[in-house]
Amino acid sequence: MTGSILILGGGCFGLTAALELRSRGWKVTLIDQGALPHPDAASTDISKVVRMDYAADAQHTGMGLLSIERWKGWNARWGIDLYHEDGFLVMSRGTMQPGGFEHDSFHYLSGLGHALRHTDAAMLRERHPVWNAERYVEGYLNPIGGWVESGRVIAMLAKEAREAGIEVIEQVKAPRPVLAAGRCNGIESSDGRVWTADLVLVASGAWTPEVLPHLQNVMWTTAQTVFHFQPSQPERFRAPAFPVWGADIAKTGWYGFPANADGLVKVANHGVGRRVNASDTRVMPAGEEEKYRAFLRETFPALAEAPVHSNRVCLYCDTFDGAFWITHDEQFEGLVVAAGDSGHAFKFTPVLGEIIADVVEQKDNDWTPKYRARQPTAVGSDGARAS
Ligand SMILES: Cc1cc2nc3c(=O)[nH]c(=O)nc-3n(C[C@H](O)[C@H](O)[C@H](O)COP(=O)(O)OP(=O)(O)OC[C@H]3O[C@@H](n4cnc5c(N)ncnc54)[C@H](O)[C@@H]3O)c2cc1C
Repeated sequence: MTGSILILGGGCFGLTAALELRSRGWKVTLIDQGALPHPDAASTDISKVVRMDYAADAQHTGMGLLSIERWKGWNARWGIDLYHEDGFLVMSRGTMQPGGFEHDSFHYLSGLGHALRHTDAAMLRERHPVWNAERYVEGYLNPIGGWVESGRVIAMLAKEAREAGIEVIEQVKAPRPVLAAGRCNGIESSDGRVWTADLVLVASGAWTPEVLPHLQNVMWTTAQTVFHFQPSQPERFRAPAFPVWGADIAKTGWYGFPANADGLVKVANHGVGRRVNASDTRVMPAGEEEKYRAFLRETFPALAEAPVHSNRVCLYCDTFDGAFWITHDEQFEGLVVAAGDSGHAFKFTPVLGEIIADVVEQKDNDWTPKYRARQPTAVGSDGARAS
């Protein structure tokens, strides 16, 4: 099955789907409201965590593992390392408990034969001296995993899309799918431009609940914050002493990165967030910096007074159960949706294209049933998200 397809949105979902469908012979047009990488897109940042650690979740562990292999392949293809295998250190404030993210990830991955390094307070003090080992008593290091320069990845993928013959149309005024009588008939912009094709794929990230209001009962937009600190001695915050980390992450949401090439140390929180509309003006909540510094004082005292270089409000497209929403739409024929990232999709960029293309072509794929249209039942998450 091939044909023509319009893709609304040039983040990691839209671009990987475009490249994969183009490689399968589709005529692909990708439309974005801004220039790529879009500065407000979730995919556009200095770094994103890449991990296989998903408690006992076999599917996301498998997707993480294959993605890591492919990130290394992409580094080789691009001739530049945008994926950095600095390892993933997760520490708990108490001993690891069954049902806990650290415990279940450690035992599930060890059971698969992965060589993880169990870490107690004494080892933390010795090997990772920036940590407050009085406060964190047990966890583990996974040497496989790390971080990726997400904004630069999007720039690379956009370049490859143009080179592959995908029509990439940027800076389009408020493009929307044309929905009428149970069918999606194309895309139109607020200044009257119209595009038609056999299928329309909406991959508009956190804007999706606004672009497709009929999905607002299963997905919504939440605002999260990110801070970039500039310590005077960035070398103290580099791997192996300071790999990507999670600090009792499933209870607190706190996680972060080693210093990047510019000496910036990113800290963020994978928590509940605030419900917003994606087109609202982004506002940094009052007292947010102090919230970060309070956390740093008890976890990384050497970073707590470092100046803030920059900060950002970034948006998740949350689904009720934390699983992605990649499916043919039940209400509008000719419409496929790939969204619902719930704050944890970028790491899977190297496998997303095939998943989305298999859904578009309605091909069997072990990983797609989880993302099909479904009705809100119990609330869930990716296991590392603080509730
Ligand atoms: C603070 C924060 C931290 C994160 N950390 C991690 C992490 O460490 N690891 C990880 O794996 N994931 C992480 N994520 C999640 C990850 O960033 C997302 O899962 C992923 O980037 C979502 O990609 P996307 O393509 O769906 O959306 P986006 O990257 O937001 O792209 C959507 C695109 O659609 C365009 N668009 C929107 N509306 C329209 C419209 N009407 N018409 C045309 N174009 C439109 C936008 O301009 C944009 O270019 C994080 C997210 C946030 C917010």
